[in-house]
Amino acid sequence: MLELKQITAHYGAAQALFGVNLQVKAGETVALVGANGAGKSTLLKCLIGLITPSGGQVLLDGQDVTGRTPAYMVRQGVALSPEGREVFAELSVEENLQLGAMALKLNRSEQQTRIDEVYQRFAKLGERRQQLAGTLSGGEQQMLAMGRALMAKPRLLLLDEPSLGLAPRITDEIFAIIHQLARSGTAILVVEQNAARALSSSDRAYLLANGQLVQQGASNELLNDPALRAAFLGAASHNSPEASRLGAAGLTNIRLEKPDMRQQNFMPNFTTEQQLKDHQLAGLQWTLHHAYEGSSFYREQLDAAQIRPEMIKSLDDLRRLPFTDADDLRAGYPFPLRAVPFEQIVRVHASSGTTGKRKVLCYTQKDLDDWTDFFARCYQMAGVTPLDRIQIAVGYGVWTAGMGFQLGCEKIGAMAVPIGPGNIDMQIQFLIDFQSTVFCSTASMALLMAEEIHRRSLADKIAVNKIIYGSERSSVSMRRKISELFGGAELFDITGLTELYGPGTGIECPDHDCIHYWGDYYIMEIVDPETLQPVADGEWGEMVVTTLCKEAAPLIRYRTHDITRIIPGACSCGNPLPRHSRIKGRSDDTIKFRGVNIYPSSVDTILSEVPGLGSEYQIHLTRDAVSGRDHMRMVIERGEGIDDNRNAELIHEAGHQIKKQLLVSAELELVAYGSLPRSERKSQRVFDSRIEDDIVE
Ligand code: ZN
Repeated sequence: MLELKQITAHYGAAQALFGVNLQVKAGETVALVGANGAGKSTLLKCLIGLITPSGGQVLLDGQDVTGRTPAYMVRQGVALSPEGREVFAELSVEENLQLGAMALKLNRSEQQTRIDEVYQRFAKLGERRQQLAGTLSGGEQQMLAMGRALMAKPRLLLLDEPSLGLAPRITDEIFAIIHQLARSGTAILVVEQNAARALSSSDRAYLLANGQLVQQGASNELLNDPALRAAFLGAASHNSPEASRLGAAGLTNIRLEKPDMRQQNFMPNFTTEQQLKDHQLAGLQWTLHHAYEGSSFYREQLDAAQIRPEMIKSLDDLRRLPFTDADDLRAGYPFPLRAVPFEQIVRVHASSGTTGKRKVLCYTQKDLDDWTDFFARCYQMAGVTPLDRIQIAVGYGVWTAGMGFQLGCEKIGAMAVPIGPGNIDMQIQFLIDFQSTVFCSTASMALLMAEEIHRRSLADKIAVNKIIYGSERSSVSMRRKISELFGGAELFDITGLTELYGPGTGIECPDHDCIHYWGDYYIMEIVDPETLQPVADGEWGEMVVTTLCKEAAPLIRYRTHDITRIIPGACSCGNPLPRHSRIKGRSDDTIKFRGVNIYPSSVDTILSEVPGLGSEYQIHLTRDAVSGRDHMRMVIERGEGIDDNRNAELIHEAGHQIKKQLLVSAELELVAYGSLPRSERKSQRVFDSRIEDDIVE
């Protein structure tokens, strides 16, 4: 009945259609599917005469009708129910229906007969015949648009996006009516983004992408065709994120299949250091303007330092900016650093701090999208794919951890097992029953699980091949032990903090000697925690971060108190993103003992190097009330299977190494493997009970 031959169309100089061929036979339902902007609506407009094609032919019953007016087409039995309904809001339902037959110049009684037929088909319209169309719901307006098209008693009904913006329940109703129309013999060409729906309710289908047909055939075959799935999803969910967001809400595009990992890349597209620096400078300048204009806190702070945003001309100018710190966040409670109006804030998170007020951070939708994207990048760097099953054993709630791991997992298209921390029996049951391949937790929790798996001899019953852990230090021996007991899983240390979106701001790469951090989202400086002067690349110091595109709560030179160092040069893994060492500790949990600063991680390292010692230990610091001298006692677990008759030898060796490397003396005590408490959150290892005179009243 209808045949399109080599249709091309232009909008000005831009070509929208490239030689499209399409047929609709009498009584047939044909679907034309494709992403937003693929050219579907343009094709319909060419067909009905709203646009004159720049090439090709429209044939109706073999007659050339190319470029004929819409009114002519209606008289030939072709009617369009347009995208977005286009009902006349100020006219009643009945008046809208009358317009549908205007081109036919019907007599009054024939017109009324047809209106009654529409009311029979759409009972809801009958109930609302005198109501203004603008007051109808979206679903009712869609019915009205279809009813108006049916007034022409078309042989061929064109439906442009009938389900667009409708709730799934209403979409069901609309498609049931389309099905009835098809059974009554009306040929239908339905244009839809909702590919699954369109394919499952049509005889044949065409897939349009970028103005060209890329697939056609029987709908039930296409529905199962991997090529169509890949092409369609590629167009809708990757190039057109807004379409897939609606899709996630069940409104337009139903995902037929998980996204293809080969099409998903969350790595930045820069290749040289200079490109990254240019990007960072632009981001820094944006952040300064944004913070200065949007946040009273930053405006005051920058004014006090006599800095105006336009004074930032190079990355070196970063050093002129004042620092911010956790105290600034607490002082600004409950919405510190806020730089956008409240109506743009879509979420808050808070730190799990127990003392003082919590640090609260707010997020715009863009902030959440950015966070989601770079968390997906973490999974990508760790080699996680949509085939993985990620058991997320970190906390869900007002803190950022669980949410970050979850969003990134969904973004990359893997299967999430969102379980939260603790609950060891359920964790183990799910590892076995669901065959989770990736386990995410704190290092302490991972150790706890590893030992439990070992105790129950389950290593060969689970499928975990990657462990992504973060939020606390981990020693080399602890990592080795976790990996072994999990049956050889690969470990990835992930970084992050609530103030800087949340977890996922960097991750260990597959070469395992560093953390790659997302220099396209934030600038990292390393400063001496005492003098606050920047240190040279490669030297240890405190990490200070400045965000480049964070909207709701930007960070300018925020002191993280994490101790690390920048690793200069390119990584052996080939990824161009900059890197730092694994976090060594926090500048504020350094142990000060007899004038020596000790990072707890140094203790981890020393104990890992003594064969026969386990990874768990406690440090107890006390002060002699009489002499005022500080005393350090270390309780260390022996390694598994190590007999207590080796105590003397091990104490001697560990004591020697501590003295040599930390320059302090400690009293050592060895205990049996597994006798120190394990925790699923951060295990407490330092117990400082030295009484400071000046804080005791
Ligand atoms: Zn690397």
